Amino acid sequence: MDINLFVSNSVEEKSELYTSLSDQIWSFAEIGFNENQSSAVLMNALKSEGFSIQSGIAGLTTGFMASFGSGNPVIAFLGEFDALAELSQEAGVFGHSPVIEGENGHGCGHNLLGVGSLAAAVAVKEYLQSHPEVKGTVHYFGCPAEESGYGKAFLVREGYFRDVDAALSWHPHILNVVPHGSTNAVVHATFNFKGISAHAGAFPHLGRSALDAVELMNVGANYMREHMVDQARLHYAITNAGGISPNVVQAEAEVTYLVRAPQITQVQELFNRLVRIAEGAALMTGTQMEYVFEGACANIIPNNTLESLMHQNLSALGVPKYNEEEISMAKSFYQCIPEQTKKESTYLVGPQLGSILAERPLAGFIVPYSGENLRFTTSSTDVGDVSWNVPTAQCLISTLAFGTPKHTWLTVAQGKTSYAHKGMLLAAKTMASTAIEAMLNPSIIEKAKSELKERLRGEKYICLVPTDVHPPAK
Ligand SMILES: [Zn+2]
Repeated sequence: MDINLFVSNSVEEKSELYTSLSDQIWSFAEIGFNENQSSAVLMNALKSEGFSIQSGIAGLTTGFMASFGSGNPVIAFLGEFDALAELSQEAGVFGHSPVIEGENGHGCGHNLLGVGSLAAAVAVKEYLQSHPEVKGTVHYFGCPAEESGYGKAFLVREGYFRDVDAALSWHPHILNVVPHGSTNAVVHATFNFKGISAHAGAFPHLGRSALDAVELMNVGANYMREHMVDQARLHYAITNAGGISPNVVQAEAEVTYLVRAPQITQVQELFNRLVRIAEGAALMTGTQMEYVFEGACANIIPNNTLESLMHQNLSALGVPKYNEEEISMAKSFYQCIPEQTKKESTYLVGPQLGSILAERPLAGFIVPYSGENLRFTTSSTDVGDVSWNVPTAQCLISTLAFGTPKHTWLTVAQGKTSYAHKGMLLAAKTMASTAIEAMLNPSIIEKAKSELKERLRGEKYICLVPTDVHPPAK
């Protein structure tokens, strides 16, 4: 039987299970390193499919590896399931309407992501079961804290990808495309300043303000901006301003920073400069500074070989059919999107397609593969760490009304729609077919591996997470 047909049957047969798992994870809405219920339902589902499970791997309480099969090649699917803080939102509602104020929400669609990859792993398992002559192992990695904490960096650092031949993943999106893309590497750290409290009116000369130190650090960092490589990014949030009383010299204050740059070495250099700026701020204010390393991940190394194979499979499978109810729902969401965001999305596809999508905002087409034409995004993902070590490809599949910005209530609200479920199932089929083809043709994996080697030009992977930094114990 044709591979695409085989995986389509496998995925469709269990579509109710996958939809229900994704909806459950949407409702759990657990943030990074706290995804206890989400990882439990995924592990249970894989266990009942006959996968063997190793949980709590690499010190990650909610991280796990599920495996089926034996021998080479070894194909890994990457699953994420973390939500974003304070993005609670009712499903299917055309307006900002939190389920519970201040609670979390799936603003990046990882409820769909984790289950889509799981469905792909199950389809490959079924293929191996019905084709005993085919040898190979399928792994599903339950990867915690993609949004903050970067679980995959720990999995890579602890050697979980050492024996993997290829890794596949996907992400919910507004279009259907296999990107030939890269991302920024990132380091996240929190700087804590300690000063001396004093009566700000009577004895200011006895005080040493930690808030002053935070402000001076931010001024220094903002001056550094002009002297960074073009695509580098710097963002901060003051997480402790030292209190609400201006007449008390602030004895403690804290600021948390994300530093991003296209290369691992660039982000390391920028981060070291930022630490010196923090030290300078402490010197200027007579305060003490300590920083906590929160997490880090590498940039993505793309892989043409796997991407073209994935694009071929996506094109052969074709986009889902949408009914009128789905189109009208997507249209109602489209109308909620800020005008500037809509314009930005139109730049992606050009004015002609843009105006078609404005009328019918569910992408009914597959964007042609861009080949060597690299698409760089200044955000970051810990898929980067995997891609430095193993040939890796991802597809972006439409689960959202065209123009929908991620990390907003609009994405949370569409996380349980039937068109999001359809996108999740298409992603599963695309990944499963790609994996099976790679398993059947060892030359594909060899080619993908030598391409990765060529792209790295002898550069060695450096895990940006220092060896003494471990995932939080819960
Ligand atoms: Zn995401």
